[in-house]
Amino acid sequence: MSPQTVALPAAWPTYRRLLGYTGSHWHIAVIAVLGMALEAAAAAGFTLLMEPMIDGTFVDRDPDIIAWMPWAIIMVFVVRGAAVFMADVGTARVGQSVVMGLRQQVFSRYLRLPSTFFDKHPSAALVTRLSYNAEQVYQASAEAVKVLVTDSLTILGLLIVMLIKSPMLTLSMLVLAPLIGGIVSIVSRRYRRINREIQGGIGNATHHAEQAVSAQQMVKVYGGEPRERARFEQISRRVRSLQTKVAATRAVSTATVQILAASALAVVVALAARQAVNDDMSAGQFMVVMTAMLAMLPSLKRFTSVQSQVQRGVAAAASLFEILDTAEENDSGGLPIGRAVGEIEYREVRLQYAGKDEAALQGISLRCAPGTVTALVGRSGSGKSTLVRLLPRFYEPSSGTILLDGRPLADYSLIDLRRQIAVVSQEVALFDDSVAANIAYGDLAEASKDRIVEAARAANALEFIERLPQGFETRIGDRGALLSGGQRQRLAIARAILKDAPILILDEATSALDTESERLVQDALARIMRGRTTLVIAHRLSTIEHADQVVVLEQGQVAERGSHAELLAQDGLYARLHRMQFQGS
Ligand code: ADP
Repeated sequence: MSPQTVALPAAWPTYRRLLGYTGSHWHIAVIAVLGMALEAAAAAGFTLLMEPMIDGTFVDRDPDIIAWMPWAIIMVFVVRGAAVFMADVGTARVGQSVVMGLRQQVFSRYLRLPSTFFDKHPSAALVTRLSYNAEQVYQASAEAVKVLVTDSLTILGLLIVMLIKSPMLTLSMLVLAPLIGGIVSIVSRRYRRINREIQGGIGNATHHAEQAVSAQQMVKVYGGEPRERARFEQISRRVRSLQTKVAATRAVSTATVQILAASALAVVVALAARQAVNDDMSAGQFMVVMTAMLAMLPSLKRFTSVQSQVQRGVAAAASLFEILDTAEENDSGGLPIGRAVGEIEYREVRLQYAGKDEAALQGISLRCAPGTVTALVGRSGSGKSTLVRLLPRFYEPSSGTILLDGRPLADYSLIDLRRQIAVVSQEVALFDDSVAANIAYGDLAEASKDRIVEAARAANALEFIERLPQGFETRIGDRGALLSGGQRQRLAIARAILKDAPILILDEATSALDTESERLVQDALARIMRGRTTLVIAHRLSTIEHADQVVVLEQGQVAERGSHAELLAQDGLYARLHRMQFQGS
């Protein structure tokens, strides 16, 4: 099968799906199409005026025609102006509505996709799809449609005018049309391929730039500038060469089409001369055919470039549909739950990440009684984070079950399940918003000011918040850039306190805070753990000492379990880790 027969049918389902989005805007679409038709009719009408203009005004000097001709010319352009307005504004409205709908769908799908999806797709590329690719869809769904409809109707109208005036000349042109069409389709295939590559390349460049910029301090301190520059240069060069290739194909195709059209013109002139000699054609008629043919050229030219627009848009739309077609997080449970008691049990839980040879969890069994603290310790990579991530069902176990209050997690709806869990992680997720909005985030947004202040107090955050320029209304910058590490952590704790969930997942920061911050954070953590089933990835001796049970993980398995004192007495792995980590503390 030749690639040509594949290209269009492959694009069609995507395009049809895209057209589906115009459904609810059909009335505006109808107005826009009417405008396009009117615009084409005006073009044909103007060429028709050529005959009376030449024959009536200049050859026969007919006073009637001389009187109405100027008005007719103005009328044609007034109609055309109104038509262009209807077509352009209508198209923009419909096209932007399509893009808006798609963007919203894709964004809300991003929020419901499983974590495994985000492991595979860099976030910069996902953001690019939302902005750049969605804009390309606009080009395909709106501007290209406008060109396609207006220009095909214009060409049709002009052809009819020409056929009426001189069938012979017109038919000779039609012989050349398939030739032009053939070249257009060859060029469009090449476009499609290059454009797909470019879209990948641009996502790549942004991704790389984002990484380098966000890690700028690391880059500086480790002398990574030459390497980052070189890599960025390499990517940029690739983008440039691809973009140049697009321009080259476009230029070649435009020139080819114009040369073909000029040849057609030559044929027409030769034939017309013979007809005129036979007295079959007036000067006015000849002008009509000529003007119509010349008026057709820009339309033909746009036709060749619109192909690439459509192809680019279809490729962009396909990348958005791919997101919409990715399965959401599995959420089939419907067991009602108000506030969980907080009993957690892992039964023979295994988890194998995609693309990894070894399972991150290799049959973990673990019980956490309601209201108790379980400290997870172990070397980096032993599976501590993986273990706690399974609780809000960010990942699904490959086998085994996790029970909450005696029922498998999947029995509950995700919303209900996640409502039972508060998380305070090492990397505090803050938004560029006010302190109050960061504490009362999401479900908590309706919390009263009093409760927010209370949560801040319990998190030992009140004192620093009150010293901020606008107190609770102070904006904290991108990811909380205007706060210290300890302050960010206390905000995260305040958020968790406000949520007041029966289960708490804590990932203690490994990086040291200054003694004062450390004391405030520890104190706040001790307070928030009280009365909740807590799973803490522990790095601090005091946390471990106070835990009800300490679970030592080693290569995805429970190596030891017991209280701090019991494990020390065993003099096994925990005792060794303890000697390494806490010597002298
Ligand atoms: P810990 O929290 O004890 O440092 P993790 O649970 O983060 O350990 O990691 C356990 C193992 O799983 C490691 O080998 C790690 O490389 C792997 N791992 C963790 N997260 C992912 C992920 N999102 N995708 C693939 N592998 C992962």
